[in-house]
Amino acid sequence: MSTATDKHHPQLAADFNRDEPRVNWHDETLWWVRAKRDMAAHKLPEWELLRETASQIKLNVLSNLSSYLEQFEANANKNGIIVHWAQDAAEHNQIVYNLLEQRGIRKMVKSKSMLTEECHLNEYLKEQGIDVIDSDLGERIVQLANEPPSHIVLPCIHKKKEEIGDIFHEHLGSAKGESDPKILTETARQHLREVFLTRRAALTGVNFAVAETGEFVICTNEGNADMGAHLAEIHIASMGIEKIIPERKHLGVFLRLLTRSATGQPITTYSSHFSKPQDGSEIHLIIVDNGRSVQLGREDFRNSLKCIRCGACMNTCPVYRKSGGHSYHTAIAGPIGSILAPNLDMKKYADLPFASTLCGSCSNVCPVKIDIHDQLYKWRQVIVKEGYSPKAKTMAMKAMALTLSSPALYRMGGKTGRFVFKYAPFAVNNKFNPWYNQREMPKAPDQSFGEWYAKRKGAKN
Ligand code: SF4
Repeated sequence: MSTATDKHHPQLAADFNRDEPRVNWHDETLWWVRAKRDMAAHKLPEWELLRETASQIKLNVLSNLSSYLEQFEANANKNGIIVHWAQDAAEHNQIVYNLLEQRGIRKMVKSKSMLTEECHLNEYLKEQGIDVIDSDLGERIVQLANEPPSHIVLPCIHKKKEEIGDIFHEHLGSAKGESDPKILTETARQHLREVFLTRRAALTGVNFAVAETGEFVICTNEGNADMGAHLAEIHIASMGIEKIIPERKHLGVFLRLLTRSATGQPITTYSSHFSKPQDGSEIHLIIVDNGRSVQLGREDFRNSLKCIRCGACMNTCPVYRKSGGHSYHTAIAGPIGSILAPNLDMKKYADLPFASTLCGSCSNVCPVKIDIHDQLYKWRQVIVKEGYSPKAKTMAMKAMALTLSSPALYRMGGKTGRFVFKYAPFAVNNKFNPWYNQREMPKAPDQSFGEWYAKRKGAKN
């Protein structure tokens, strides 16, 4: 499902905010998930040590990425896994298509993979006449609603159960008005069971790929990746180059952090290891770059490749909670998406690093200690320097810099402002002023602080 839109974050956030009850409920639900994360983290005295260890392991990976990737490929090949390399999204999609086409496969089941969202794989395969069914429950719901996921862990968090009931009634034949989550889940289960049993191909994401052993690990709560992969003749797994970890023992660190950070669970329900194909079936693994090596070369932003996609930075972000995932118009929303997206297209995503209060809550919860809010701040500087910020804003900032650096200009500006507020308030209080659209403008004081202070000082002397 495409995230293509001409609108930027402020307009899309304004669209989401038209439905105030939804905004409140979205905000509260994600804050509840954040609170669960806090409880899970505080139960582990070694939490901070785990975060630091994970961060250091990933730092080592990023510093030696090419050798770990080669080691992983060699070991995966030894295990019978066929490894493919894709430089970008187009190449990734072409490889998937070729694998299906060569076997005459027209239908595929897919478990959650944010990389395939990033590559717009579903749309591409649909254009080639291949039917893809997402098997993660949340992803299936947004797929039926013809929408992209709004959250990397909770793809349909923006939808109410009544809306899901309507979607299931229309597409899966559940009773009209049915919104009981248990019944709706059972409806989805029956529908997906038939899909699992009839698809010859399954595509999954990858959470961790172990260089030492050539195996990869997929974490799900529903077991849908396992079900798809075990029943299909061909299992295609897509992973970004940053998913490597050096040794199997390091998994213990990441598995303990991942789900606690994501949902507050101590461990994912299924953490499945895929090390070799079953008899009579194939495993193809596609290792995708798609801009990651460019990000690796950006010193200020390379740490963003440590991300293990837990979603904690979204759950805690006050802007994300109030503006919804679709307002980020990119596959990965929220604070981490706002760092990753400008690397892919700086002009298109120039708005995203500004969709933050820079409060630092994202960096505080990140299990791999990415300096998220610092990177957002740094992206703002790069975007302005490269000329991608809106012209009006650039001019306003230049005027502000000039005024603030000259006491005479500053005094004159203050006087003019107070005069306008007092005698021509319509020049400020009008529909072209976005601040006024949302709030009451303040009453202008009769004098500046400087004037008031000078007078008071004079009176005392
Ligand atoms: S940046 Fe950190 S908190 Fe955000 S999704 Fe990635 S690992 Fe989780």
